[in-house]
Amino acid sequence: MKWKGRRASSNVEDRRGMGGKTVVGGGIGGIVIILLYTLLGGNPGDLINNMSSNNGENTTVPYEESTQEKESKNFVSVVLADTEDVWSDEFKKRGLKYENPTLVLYSGSIQSACGFASSAVGPFYCPGDHKLYIDLSFYQELKEKFQAPGDFAMAYVIAHEVGHHVQTLLHTGEHVSAAQRKSNQYSVRFELQADYLAGVWAHYAEGKGYLEKGDLEEALNAANAVGDDNIQKKAQGYVVPESFTHGTSAQRKRWFYKGFENGTIEGGDTFKAANL
Ligand SMILES: [Zn+2]
Repeated sequence: MKWKGRRASSNVEDRRGMGGKTVVGGGIGGIVIILLYTLLGGNPGDLINNMSSNNGENTTVPYEESTQEKESKNFVSVVLADTEDVWSDEFKKRGLKYENPTLVLYSGSIQSACGFASSAVGPFYCPGDHKLYIDLSFYQELKEKFQAPGDFAMAYVIAHEVGHHVQTLLHTGEHVSAAQRKSNQYSVRFELQADYLAGVWAHYAEGKGYLEKGDLEEALNAANAVGDDNIQKKAQGYVVPESFTHGTSAQRKRWFYKGFENGTIEGGDTFKAANL
């Protein structure tokens, strides 16, 4: 992806090196209802650890980033800026106002409005504070663990999480009851819509001439890698379709590509689609 020298978003909050210290409202021993939107499926037990694990230590050591990390930070800031551009345009066309989300960079673990999370959960979006949370080491994980290398693979990840922000602002999927929203069926449709919206962003990037040869394939390969069937096969050797929360590799690729082809919010109603 061509990204060097382009506008970087200022909506990046760097909390690396600060640990997941418990802030007010963390409530040691309290019950926290988690509603955060991740890129990956997997075990929800990873989402939250013991809230009191940190003992409230507030030591803040300035984070020393490597050259590679510095580059990654710049890259995600440019991708975030691109998402700001496309979504403010798309919202304006519909007489709506887009509110930019904040991208929080963290290392290891983080306290969000959606609870305490470790980087094992992967990138996520918290609708409670309109922030995306990413540990940049995920870039490496994508390459090595998921065999999805390339900058556009990482761009897809950011765009997917921003997709969840767009869903939050548009209140998509809120036509069903809270109970229904907890079903896996619902989750899959919701996640595939975020993939579709990531595709809409890619369409925009293509139109601007930012894509390089192989970029689209990198994103599709990443969408394939994070499919529930692929993750389950790798983790346990077999697949349990009823437990899917994000869709199969084929579905994730299909909806991302649909968004890429269409380039508009319309066409991404995964809740009405007869076939996913
Ligand atoms: Zn997601």
